[in-house]
Amino acid sequence: MSAGERSVGEATAERADVQRRLAAVREEMADAARAAGRDPGGVRVLLATKTVPAALVRAALEAPVPAGLAPVVVGENRVQELVAKGPELADLSPELHLIGHLQSNKVNHALRWASCIQSIDSLRIAQRISQRTERDGRVLDVLVQVNVSGEDSKYGVAPADAPALATEVAALPGLRLGGFMTIGPNPNTADAAAIRAAYARLRGVRDEVVTSGAPGTAGARELSMGMSNDFPLAVAEGATIVRLGSAVFGARPEP
Ligand SMILES: *Cc1c(COP(=O)(O)O)cnc(C)c1O
Repeated sequence: MSAGERSVGEATAERADVQRRLAAVREEMADAARAAGRDPGGVRVLLATKTVPAALVRAALEAPVPAGLAPVVVGENRVQELVAKGPELADLSPELHLIGHLQSNKVNHALRWASCIQSIDSLRIAQRISQRTERDGRVLDVLVQVNVSGEDSKYGVAPADAPALATEVAALPGLRLGGFMTIGPNPNTADAAAIRAAYARLRGVRDEVVTSGAPGTAGARELSMGMSNDFPLAVAEGATIVRLGSAVFGARPEP
């Protein structure tokens, strides 16, 4: 076997590792939901699959879904990876979400595969997508990305501006506002209380929009928040989608 090639035995072991870790995080997610008095079936695990080969994403998608829990969703950061892995997973018909920043010149490629775009952070990009889906006679689910931590490095609209953007997005004919997404504060610098406060802030934005009475907002209940190192805190604050990468697939190679 040449360098870089993997034996069948290694591939099988990797698949088993992914399925074992997925089962473990699902259990931890369900425990956190029950501890918060929530139905574990109301929290979906999104597999954050950047840099993960399609064969391992497939292993996670083929794992049995425990009774009472929802099937997993796949989330890609880059349109390029969405386009590359979409066809390889198509036979499993997973729900594919875009969770990374979307540039307007990539909208058409993203729409070919994504059933939800979680990273809407401007009216301009929302209008661009809506024009396209309306022309195609479809309606796309989207989430508005909010920068709850205020960290400059993060995309997303400021919490104070989020309700106005969400209301405008919800009114676009080619989009259905599903809710909100955020990337939490850096867990290396934020403590558990600060992380929970940030997630509570997203919930506050959601509640404000859902109860506003504005057209298209009543169903916008999704809260996509929490990653491998803090998802139980996000579930405690109401997450309906937790986005897990390393906890399921192991550490990513350094960029
Ligand atoms: C990578 C990524 C995740 C998952 O990160 P982990 O820490 O590996 O769980 C979640 N959301 C987004 C937007 C990501 O880019």
